[in-house]
Amino acid sequence: MTAVVVAGSFNVDHVWRCDTLPAGGATIAGRYSTGPGGKGFNQAVAAGRAGASTTFVCALGDDAGGALARQLAGADGLSLVAEASAEPTGTAGIYVDARGRNSIVIGAGANASLSIPFVTANQSLVGSAKVLLAQLESPIETIEAALELARQNGVTTVLNAAPANAPSTISLLKLADVLTPNETEFAALLSRHVGERIEADDVAALDGATLHELCRKLSGNTVVVTLGAVGVFVSHAPERLRGDSSAYYRVAAETVQAVDTTGAGDAFNGALAASLATVADVPFAQHVRFANRYAARSTENEGAALAMPRFTPADAV
Ligand code: ADP
Repeated sequence: MTAVVVAGSFNVDHVWRCDTLPAGGATIAGRYSTGPGGKGFNQAVAAGRAGASTTFVCALGDDAGGALARQLAGADGLSLVAEASAEPTGTAGIYVDARGRNSIVIGAGANASLSIPFVTANQSLVGSAKVLLAQLESPIETIEAALELARQNGVTTVLNAAPANAPSTISLLKLADVLTPNETEFAALLSRHVGERIEADDVAALDGATLHELCRKLSGNTVVVTLGAVGVFVSHAPERLRGDSSAYYRVAAETVQAVDTTGAGDAFNGALAASLATVADVPFAQHVRFANRYAARSTENEGAALAMPRFTPADAV
């Protein structure tokens, strides 16, 4: 039986490392590499490597990218439930300069055709999981249907409201038992849905009571704001503390030698879902501490999906 279902995107990432990002009209040289990506796939790999039996629900084209997804999912022990799409498998073109800044173009391709009927056809899979984890690189109405289906079956829902520019609605956010934006996504959601204008860079420095109040405007449930090298902030609905003793608190980031923070948020989400699905009857803070440690460790190697560490909540005790 599957403990975690991840519904989301798979991309083939094409990465060029250049001295500077190319200006409009320019042709420059770069060091090329390619590999798997997409928030859905990265998070599914993390959930699996963090010890949860995991199924990845996605849409793939009938092409080399689709074959790569199947091969890598198999190699990682993930179950793959893929909707066949007439579109090419998702792609991302990524330029990274010498200072680590990037410009990214996403070709959603097959990811944009993940459909409600496909999710509904997999009702028993979603309904029998412990945790459903989703992001916003797939059609919003399909993600909404998946979250609703999970909710109806008592499955815990985790929504990573990423990327920041993805469309969302407040009713979608409210379908998440746990909402997990990073500081950029948090600022975007606040601006879009409750008219609060806060700079992403200022989020981590806000005092706890203010952050808690802002979280409460977005969700009637738990919100976990990831704050990069600062750690995380957790805010619960006062009537639903999930075993914690306070309605809000911070967890400091683990001290590591970070080499590449790409995919740290994906590591956090996958690990959080895995812990929620496999460890019963512990305070929510314990799941957060595990995810925080797992995400920190994921930054010690270059890459996203393929750099996800292998350790479980039991190993971390
Ligand atoms: P995203 O990748 O979505 O931008 P964050 O940057 O907020 O997400 O990172 C997610 C989590 O990864 C953080 O909350 C923290 O637990 C961990 N993390 C990220 N960067 C570091 C770092 N430099 N050192 C330790 N932990 C980190």
